[in-house]
Amino acid sequence: MHGMKGHDIPVTQIITHPEVIERFEKPRINDMTEAYLNKMIQDKHRETTEQYTDAYETYYGIFPHSYRLRESSFQESVYLKQESPHSLICDTPLCRAMYHSLPKYTQHSKYPYFPVYTRQHRENVKQDVSCTLCHSCVSVYGEPGKEPGKEPGKESTL
Ligand SMILES: [Zn+2]
Repeated sequence: MHGMKGHDIPVTQIITHPEVIERFEKPRINDMTEAYLNKMIQDKHRETTEQYTDAYETYYGIFPHSYRLRESSFQESVYLKQESPHSLICDTPLCRAMYHSLPKYTQHSKYPYFPVYTRQHRENVKQDVSCTLCHSCVSVYGEPGKEPGKEPGKESTL
């Protein structure tokens, strides 16, 4: 799913509710984890081989440079794609549950290469905490952005 304009779900509310995990039973987590890994590996392969499925992907790339995410009616944040390999994992409870359900070998061989996005420091938030989201999570709520200078005819506001 791609970014939806005007989407106003307070995503931090979703992120900070650990009880999400308890809604899913172990076998369900395993199924979801397998689907998640397969999708991520397929998308990475499509990126390498430049197999875009639509004009949106052709323009922004399969893993866009950044996302703008409306975290509440008052707060818009910018998430920037991090270089691989990295040691980051997505902060949403479901993604963390999936990560911890995997053997160490898979964690260490796969996750450093999965695209993740880290929230840029927010000047207007007191004692701002860091937040990292995987592509699968950030793309549901965020608006994609191109690398500054690579967007023809549009001034970057990053
Ligand atoms: Zn995630």
